[in-house]
Amino acid sequence: MKNIYLLGECMVELMTAPAQTEQAPSSAPKDLKQSFAGDVFNTAVYLKRLFKDTQVNMVTAVGNDQFSDDMVSFFEAEHLGTDFVFRSEDKIPGLYAIQLDEHGERSFTYWRNNSAARTIMSFINDDTISTLSEGDIFFFSGISLGVVLPEDREKFWCFISKLKVAGVKIAFDLNYRHQLWASKQEAREQFSIAFKAADILLPGVDDFAAIFELDTVEAIIDYFNQYEYQELIIKNGEQNVYCLSQTASDKKQDIVDVTPVEHVVDTTSAGDSFNGGYLGARMAGHSISQSVELANQVAGFVIQHKGAIVDKSAFSSRFN
Ligand code: ADP
Repeated sequence: MKNIYLLGECMVELMTAPAQTEQAPSSAPKDLKQSFAGDVFNTAVYLKRLFKDTQVNMVTAVGNDQFSDDMVSFFEAEHLGTDFVFRSEDKIPGLYAIQLDEHGERSFTYWRNNSAARTIMSFINDDTISTLSEGDIFFFSGISLGVVLPEDREKFWCFISKLKVAGVKIAFDLNYRHQLWASKQEAREQFSIAFKAADILLPGVDDFAAIFELDTVEAIIDYFNQYEYQELIIKNGEQNVYCLSQTASDKKQDIVDVTPVEHVVDTTSAGDSFNGGYLGARMAGHSISQSVELANQVAGFVIQHKGAIVDKSAFSSRFN
């Protein structure tokens, strides 16, 4: 059985609905829908839903409160492995709220500075590393990186290099969120270490433009020439996906078109669900272009639904 570990933060999500009556003052009490989401977690969910024979494990930390218990139950309901979901004695999960205005525009507010997930490295020891070294892929994102406490970064990179030496493929998606970084320079430095470590790179053009100020696929490909990746999959929104692969003796480049969705409802999780489809398909032995085709279909489906995680039955009626 193929085995993937995904390190990141899952948060408590609160979503407000648009004001129910135009007369209601903004100070009036509101109903909130509570669920759970986080980029790496979203990827894990879609990967497992699509590839049930793959062992998909979350690597994160939560607390001992009711939200944490419910979050772990959510992981279990999605059949994610929880052996590496650690329990902090004194922290609780991060929280974020999505507010929708009367035009359907979303805004996000985060309470995550002191979350349990930020302390993940305090739970990683030699035993953890030796089990994780048996995995096929280890995935993390720029958000995971920003969440790891700055004083733990050295330990984090040492951990990644041990997994790599053990033969685990390292997969990374940029997912740049400026709020998580003290400066652009700091984020760039950390991302450069990730690019060096990664075998599979899954950047989106918009993210890349926001941090490295390169906004064409050609410039991004040039930039990555300095790194020794095996697969570079560049997500270019509704246009296409560039797929580059290289071995010691061979280099390939392929472009897979995207069929644009006519009625986009919510792009949250487009890139995350893409990553789940892609990594799952690659582990199942599909070619790079077949894997991208599937990833495009999954992301195209997800953006026609509200929220990061599409209802299970709706999803399984489309992808079986
Ligand atoms: P990210 O969320 O990482 O910024 P993108 O916006 O590039 O990534 O989108 C991720 C994937 O979602 C794309 O590669 C594509 O498969 C799919 N996608 C995004 N926008 C559309 C769209 N309008 N129509 C169809 N598919 C889309």
